[in-house]
Amino acid sequence: MRKLVMASNNAGKLREFQALLAPLGWEVVPQASLGVTEAEEPHVTFVENALAKARHASASTGLPALADDSGICVTALGGAPGVYSARFAGEPKSDACNNQLLIEKLAGQSDRRAHYVCVLVFVRSKDDPQPLIAEGEWHGEVIDEARGAGGFGYDPYFLLPDLGKTAAELEPETKNRISHRGVAVQTLLERLRHAAI
Ligand code: IMP
Repeated sequence: MRKLVMASNNAGKLREFQALLAPLGWEVVPQASLGVTEAEEPHVTFVENALAKARHASASTGLPALADDSGICVTALGGAPGVYSARFAGEPKSDACNNQLLIEKLAGQSDRRAHYVCVLVFVRSKDDPQPLIAEGEWHGEVIDEARGAGGFGYDPYFLLPDLGKTAAELEPETKNRISHRGVAVQTLLERLRHAAI
């Protein structure tokens, strides 16, 4: 097994990536277990933040590294909250406050389009000139009343018009298959299968 460091300490993400990457011969190790500090995320784009996190984890450990960054972009808000999705309503982080602020900002707005974005970045080394980058998008509409108890974050307000359900009303397996994260993960696995590493 080859080792890679995951630039996240989220236990759920770690488990998911361990299960997905083991069949490709990768052992996924969380950065905290190797003493890696949290990287700065100073950028306004998902890809720049994911790259900064991956590069930092690789530089600290000498291992290949994988990082992700995700959020929701609302068309009528010029793509906001974007990379600020987790802290849209400020500190401390609160899904309820974030959703309340989103609904307030969209009051009277007829364009309700929004999409989730997930970017995954894999670097072979800190100086990798060709990081593997995989992106997934998931398009929907923001509704005013919460529906469903699954998922997290903005999911109860994120309606998939084709399915007639919010992301919070989907079975976890369904969400994982079609979501921004699901698409990005599948794309990354395909790239990892064929890349020279
Ligand atoms: P992170 O990439 O885990 O830091 O997530 C950034 C933020 O984007 C989360 O805290 C949520 O607010 C939002 N977000 C990302 N993916 C999802 C999702 O699948 N459902 C709901 N909210 C999400």
